[in-house]
Amino acid sequence: MTNAASAGGCLRCRLGKKSARDQTTEEDDAVSMMKSDIRKTGKFYHDQLSDTIGDTPLVRLRNIPREHGVEATILLKLEYFNPTGSVKDRMAVYVLKEAIRKGELKPGGTIIEATSGNTGAAVAMFAAANGYKAVLTIPDKMSAEKVDTLRAYGAEVHICPTAVPPDSPESYYETARRILESTPGAYMLGQYHNLDNIKAHYMTTGPELYEQTEGGRFDVFVAGIGTGGTMSGTAKYLKEKRPEIEVVAVDVEGSVYYQYFKEKTVGEGRPYLVEGIGDDMLCPTVDFSVIDAMYQVNDEQSFRMARDLARKEGILAGGSGGSALHAALEHGRKLTADKTVIVIVPDNGTKYISKMYSDAWMAEKGFLK
Ligand code: PMP
Repeated sequence: MTNAASAGGCLRCRLGKKSARDQTTEEDDAVSMMKSDIRKTGKFYHDQLSDTIGDTPLVRLRNIPREHGVEATILLKLEYFNPTGSVKDRMAVYVLKEAIRKGELKPGGTIIEATSGNTGAAVAMFAAANGYKAVLTIPDKMSAEKVDTLRAYGAEVHICPTAVPPDSPESYYETARRILESTPGAYMLGQYHNLDNIKAHYMTTGPELYEQTEGGRFDVFVAGIGTGGTMSGTAKYLKEKRPEIEVVAVDVEGSVYYQYFKEKTVGEGRPYLVEGIGDDMLCPTVDFSVIDAMYQVNDEQSFRMARDLARKEGILAGGSGGSALHAALEHGRKLTADKTVIVIVPDNGTKYISKMYSDAWMAEKGFLK
């Protein structure tokens, strides 16, 4: 088998050659492990599923922008092409490999994490393939599909109440912390405070998007913020390369980020139904300095937009993808036809078939007119 990396055609190969930053650091090794290219190794297969993370496609919307009076080109980066169906595969596997490299996660050890489901799936997939035990805490508002998926990977799952403050002993954060303290040798990934979360996207999603767009040939980057890792790391890389790229963050009504961005005050969080974005506390993994504008989208707008995306473009995304697209279209109405907007679609709609894709569920919540 020839070494196709030297031909320079494939994005996965080019990223694997440490081209994102011309220095040989241990962090680069972690990325090239993740981006390992089968042709570089002389094999015609991947050594494990997590080696297929990244290199996700950009797809143009053909119908929805016109209907919303948007002339700019809207491209979706479909992160559900990652192996467990979400953007969080990038972060979880990067952070876990870093923890293994630093000796914080020992062979056969237990990985503990508080998750809205997608990080948990990534952790559980990596744990199953590499001989670790996964113990995950998840709020009870998350879909049954997500919880069942974690158990299908063999993870131990603890379901915690959603409607309690983050510092309540019952919250999914505090439950995870207690399990960590009582489990000898356990490692907590800690996506809400671990700055490797931002770094994962700075090292992978940012360079990938920059190369995919032939040196950042686009104008606006739109991403929802949950932990903020995706937006912060990707935008930091893009801003360093092309400061004129405008970064638009998306929050959900009920979360505290929007008010903090506008007024620098932290309000009370209120429960909301969109999964994966927003929070009831400020996370250090949100880098507000890279955000140019922020939109706040509500549950109904998010779900209706995701359902439209499925019916009018054939793209089945999760609710947070609907939030991001709703904001992108609102912003896009201010842009001229020569502009290009890239929107992160974090996960797959199959995770929400019993909720936002169910007419009965939508009617029960009062979202179907
Ligand atoms: N959408 C969904 C469905 C998610 O699970 C997450 C992760 N919590 C996000 C968006 C936001 O990603 P991040 O945590 O990197 O901000």
